[in-house]
Amino acid sequence: MKKLLITLAVVIVLGTGAYAGLTNLRGGQDFLLEQALQAQMASTLKPYDFEGLEVMVCGSSSPLPDPTRAQACIMVRAGNQMFVVDSGSGSNTVMQANGAPYRLMRGLLLTHFHSDHISGIGDMNLASWVAGRPEPMLVIGPQGVEQVVAGYNMAFELDRGYRTLHHGEELMPAALGLIAARTIQPGVIHDEDGLTITAFEVDHSPIKPAFGYRFDYMGRSVVVSGDTIVTKGLEQAATNVDLLLTDALSHKLIHSLAKAAAAAGADKQAQVLRDVLDYHVDTRNLDGMAKRANIRQVALYHLVPPTRNTLMEKIFTRDIETDVVMTFDGMRFWLPSDSTEIRID
Ligand SMILES: [Zn+2]
Ligand SMILES: [Zn+2]
Repeated sequence: MKKLLITLAVVIVLGTGAYAGLTNLRGGQDFLLEQALQAQMASTLKPYDFEGLEVMVCGSSSPLPDPTRAQACIMVRAGNQMFVVDSGSGSNTVMQANGAPYRLMRGLLLTHFHSDHISGIGDMNLASWVAGRPEPMLVIGPQGVEQVVAGYNMAFELDRGYRTLHHGEELMPAALGLIAARTIQPGVIHDEDGLTITAFEVDHSPIKPAFGYRFDYMGRSVVVSGDTIVTKGLEQAATNVDLLLTDALSHKLIHSLAKAAAAAGADKQAQVLRDVLDYHVDTRNLDGMAKRANIRQVALYHLVPPTRNTLMEKIFTRDIETDVVMTFDGMRFWLPSDSTEIRID
């Protein structure tokens, strides 16, 4: 045992020394760089053999800033179909950094049109265009989605032209740079190759309409709440679901932030913070919901405010007795087909 430990220590010391030595040499730098890049590319291109629903948090935050979190975004993959729910600021970076398969993107589902849900649309359109999706990016959402898409198409018209001019029509076909829109009503909005997506109304008053989405695939299910308060409709949509990703607000943290802003004389910020209190899922109302609706796992995203440390996290979840997951950007949930397992990494 002692011999083994000494050998291990020697290998580590020599390995570290060799690595440090290589980083000081031009040839060594090139070698390390190429090895690392090849390994990274190989890992993103390896065959996908997972059967079931894969969910990734591509944005766990809300309009309140946090340098470590993007704004609202959830990716759901079912085999060769990849959908994204909302595209807040920074979410494209999280998608790309975590190897999201943009070439398989079938649609961007918008829950409503607050800036923290739509400000990443231009970035996602470009990233998926470069990744080689075969159709224009389709943005799906309630009444109003066509206006948002028309605005993006107008704002990015020059950029689209530059990309095709620079890379050529064959590589970056102009027609695939234009975003398409589809207005939907509550109900089943997609049913293909075993994946069903159902839109349902939520209560984000005074913002109307606002939707949440439910995904059902191979005996597994996921609900993404969008922005809402706890309502009977949300509970109904999430009944018997494996995973509920819900918008979440800590009354105590927001109240304390508003108090601190008022004390510092920032009255406008204080009032805006107080206004936010009544249109998100208050964690005090979340307790018991999982049991009532028979939800296997509740996970919190769209954190209002985003938690920065353990103290804030403890306060955020202290009123919920059920086991909940506080998400972070890049967190993945794996729901294998026809089972009850939920793997989180
Ligand atoms: Zn929001
Ligand atoms: Zn909102």
